[in-house]
Amino acid sequence: MMDASLLLDGLNDKQREAVAAPLGNHLVLAGAGSGKTRVLVHRIAWLLQIEQASPYSIMSVTFTNKAAAEMRGRINALMQGSCAGMWNGTFHGLCHRMLRAHYLDARLPEDFNILDSDDQMRLLRRLIKAQNLDEKQWPARQAAWYINGKKDEGLRPNHIETFNDPVEQVWLQLYRAYQEACDRAGLVDFAELLLRSFELLRDNKHIREHYQARFKHILVDEFQDTNNIQFAWLRLMAGPDCHVMIVGDDDQSIYGWRGAQVENIQRFLRDFHNASTIFLEQNYRSTGNILNAANELIAHNNERMGKRLWTEGAEGELISLYSAFNELDEARFAVGKIKAWRDQGGTLNDTALLYRSNAQSRVLEEALIQEGLPYRIYGGMRFFERQEVKDALAYLRLLSNRNDDASFERVVNTPARGIGDRTLDTIRMAARDRGATLWQASVALLDEQVLAGRAANALRRFIELVNALEDDTCELPLFQQTDEVIRNSGLRAMYEQEKGEKAQARIENLEELVTATRQFEVPEEAEDLSPLAAFLSHAALEAGEGQADEFEDAVQLMTMHSAKGLEFPVVFMVGVEEGMFPSARTSEEVGRLEEERRLCYVGMTRAMQKLYITYAEMRRLYGKDNFHKPSRFIREIPSEFVEEVRMKAQVSRPASSGRFSQTQVNENFNQTGFNLGQRVMHPKFGEGTIINFEGSGAQSRVQVAFNGEGIKWLVTQYAKLEPM
Ligand code: ATP
Ligand code: MG
Repeated sequence: MMDASLLLDGLNDKQREAVAAPLGNHLVLAGAGSGKTRVLVHRIAWLLQIEQASPYSIMSVTFTNKAAAEMRGRINALMQGSCAGMWNGTFHGLCHRMLRAHYLDARLPEDFNILDSDDQMRLLRRLIKAQNLDEKQWPARQAAWYINGKKDEGLRPNHIETFNDPVEQVWLQLYRAYQEACDRAGLVDFAELLLRSFELLRDNKHIREHYQARFKHILVDEFQDTNNIQFAWLRLMAGPDCHVMIVGDDDQSIYGWRGAQVENIQRFLRDFHNASTIFLEQNYRSTGNILNAANELIAHNNERMGKRLWTEGAEGELISLYSAFNELDEARFAVGKIKAWRDQGGTLNDTALLYRSNAQSRVLEEALIQEGLPYRIYGGMRFFERQEVKDALAYLRLLSNRNDDASFERVVNTPARGIGDRTLDTIRMAARDRGATLWQASVALLDEQVLAGRAANALRRFIELVNALEDDTCELPLFQQTDEVIRNSGLRAMYEQEKGEKAQARIENLEELVTATRQFEVPEEAEDLSPLAAFLSHAALEAGEGQADEFEDAVQLMTMHSAKGLEFPVVFMVGVEEGMFPSARTSEEVGRLEEERRLCYVGMTRAMQKLYITYAEMRRLYGKDNFHKPSRFIREIPSEFVEEVRMKAQVSRPASSGRFSQTQVNENFNQTGFNLGQRVMHPKFGEGTIINFEGSGAQSRVQVAFNGEGIKWLVTQYAKLEPM
């Protein structure tokens, strides 16, 4: 047996108390960077080593697949061995595993597929059309929000009382139709994974008792962001002799908008027998200045359980605040600093660019590309969500399950094979009338010879193609199968015919998909699946957690939401402006504003050594120029922790170097005739954006960032710029 002291090394007294706590229910409540995740990892090792728990009796739940993989790695390192048999994953991943094991009791086909949010939207759009509803009035996005919300509350259509509200009745009717379509096609969306699995445990005593007998130790990270259905699921999984340890931070609850219930922390204390609370207060991540600034910021919230972090570490550098004059300048500033960091020997992996919403990444990406700095995006532009990748996956899904309607819809006429909207409508109608899937309806229509000759031929070709793809490739290793499917389906040829860089990128992505299948190892918990099915689940579950080019040194880009739990030596928070962060929608409601402030706290506490906060005085959004004030969050950080930085060389500001007031900006517009951020066309250099200007009259010059030609200063009088 390993010496207990090894497991307690590198922990402070409070952390040790948590790691070595007697078996029982425990809450570890503590602020950012105080070692909660570290405690969880050591606790698992402690259970294995000192309490002699079998790995088989332990389940740990993390918020992302990336975190789960990291946890496994850390436990393996601590234990110098494996923790085979342990359940370790996200709520979604674990529920998926459970549904696979009990698909019959869960009333699912053996080969059920996961419907990701994009496919869900597609399916809803189709249903909205089929019900003759106007999609402008009944947007698919809102339908998804309604349905997912109800599922998160554990509600099936039969449980919902609309009180004759005509609007809600429509949503409910869509929920019903949607669920029927999913059930028919063997599709399970993300919320359904949780709800189904919850119902499975609730309604099947023997299954519930099996898991309750098995799992003696359940550990949950980031507990503040669990929702109702996850809490209910945990309560069913944890039997009378189960020991549950949860760790969390009420100040980092940032998914309220998605139904997370920070109250679950109190519910835990109420519902789980004799639960004790352990507080950690020492922060090991950030310098004193960063930590104190974050403490001061979060103190502006009223809804808090109240705790304050301290650090023994150095004060460190001040937080650098940069006032950019537009979003391009902001991007250039951040990228310039990253470049300097690298030139001084820093690694790019240690730098993170955090933003409030995904769309903000584009400008940053462009600046990074221009400087030749590799970068990686978490979330957002996910590899597995790219069009061509999804096309290829849809073929693979059909091979694995012909009744997958979402995949059928996606590729029945991709590449084009003459199956038009009319034929498709006929198939959809037939499917609806017969309660069949699109595939089944197609086969029936062909048998009954009801389709016109050309349509029938085209459809038959598709059916035969899919069948042949399976017959020809089912014996091959997964990566060869994938390669063959991409070629023989005609996808590759289709994208090869498209011209330009975008098409090239698509082909590279298809090739990358083959690489991904080649590198893919069926994880232990999915050994019951065929490699293809395991890979498809992996693609659906792990999309967006950045496995595309994992080993290259790269700047890390992500939303502040995705940054939760992570840490980086150098962090940039960009777009910290009123109307952006807090976002315009949330700044009015107190509850939402406090959640935004918690998000700001999460962002700041990702930084270990250096934090930059930037905002742009002018920002182009949806094609319109907007003037923003610095965020109130900046004002809430005491100035003793902050230094304002200026960039001299790159941006020569007209007039004084002070901030623009709006009127000053307008005066400056008049002198060149152009606006900052305005799109212009140049006869030789093509399209570009005005990013700076100086001088007046005949001397006035504008600086333009051209799409292909880089950044140039031009004399306004001669430049022949046309506004676009
Ligand atoms: P978050 O709230 O952001 O999820 P956390 O509370 O989970 O943070 P960890 O990620 O576990 O915090 O720890 C933060 C950092 O501090 C990590 O780099 C960790 O290795 C380090 N750390 C934690 N405890 C100690 C300790 N006792 N001694 C030295 N370093 C520690
Ligand atoms: Mg953590």
